[in-house]
Amino acid sequence: MHEIYEREVLEKLREIKAKKVLIQTPEGLKREAQILARFLEENGIETIISGDINYGSCDPADREAKQLGCNALIHLGHSYMQLNLEVPTIFIPAFARVDMEKVLKKNLSEIKKLGRKITLVTTVQHIKDLNYVKAFLEREGFNVFLGKGDGRVSFLGQVIGCNFSSAKVDEEVEGILFIGAGYFHPIGVALTTKKPTLAINPYSGDAIWVNEEAERVIRKRWAQITKAYDAKRFGVIISTKKGQLRIGEARRILELLKKHGKEGQLIAMNHISYPALEGFDFDAYVVVACPRVPIDDVENWRKPVLTPKELEILLGLREDYEFDEILG
Ligand code: SF4
Repeated sequence: MHEIYEREVLEKLREIKAKKVLIQTPEGLKREAQILARFLEENGIETIISGDINYGSCDPADREAKQLGCNALIHLGHSYMQLNLEVPTIFIPAFARVDMEKVLKKNLSEIKKLGRKITLVTTVQHIKDLNYVKAFLEREGFNVFLGKGDGRVSFLGQVIGCNFSSAKVDEEVEGILFIGAGYFHPIGVALTTKKPTLAINPYSGDAIWVNEEAERVIRKRWAQITKAYDAKRFGVIISTKKGQLRIGEARRILELLKKHGKEGQLIAMNHISYPALEGFDFDAYVVVACPRVPIDDVENWRKPVLTPKELEILLGLREDYEFDEILG
């Protein structure tokens, strides 16, 4: 299903004269990592595969690569993110091969319900198909916009779980079409744009209106805020992953807590999970790291867990619900 351009990788490694590399991969590309490693070894490059789980380009293993004596890191599955890296890093996004025409034809009547002026967004897996989708829809009479996004995304129309900047365009559009699998991204798009959002899963061919699901997520988030209402002592969790480290934001949160008569303690973690926090005696947590953590894992936390914006609601500093994003 995924294409990884082995020759291209080899050429880039030769350009930077890398003799030993670390390959980092998300769960779904482990076999591709093995194939790439074999290919590179056959071409004279010593290769180590990182067995640690990777969720995004926010977590490059450049420091580990350096420790292992590698002169380059190959980061599979995600697109480039601007970070201060310790070794040259090649980001190799994995692009999916799907029959977009079939999927679009199947869902055309549903897409028309968005209106004629729409924004188109997707995840990196389908980014290569975006121009095709745009042209297809324009032939059907749609006016389609692709947002540029900020420095945290690499492509026009690309969204990641912590950044929906490309879903916001200067034009007044009627709705948003998201192409991709899973709920988190389209829910984030719906919550940040506050526009009707249709998500089409190109693998199953199914289309779903996500605004109701987004409302359900918000109701759950309000429940967390209410649960944290009487909390006095907050653990403020920051991440040691390079692209999730928001130390300035964490300090702002500590200041806010202090100003409102509450206690805050910074906690640094690499992989944030509730079991690792069980021994602490805090009443609630604020996660100032990947915005997905408090939302995806909420069922696993016994203590309330909030995003920074949710804490602002709790402290009476904001009324409307807003999704947490890391903007670049
Ligand atoms: Fe994905 Fe979270 Fe990393 Fe953003 S911070 S790239 S959502 S893992």
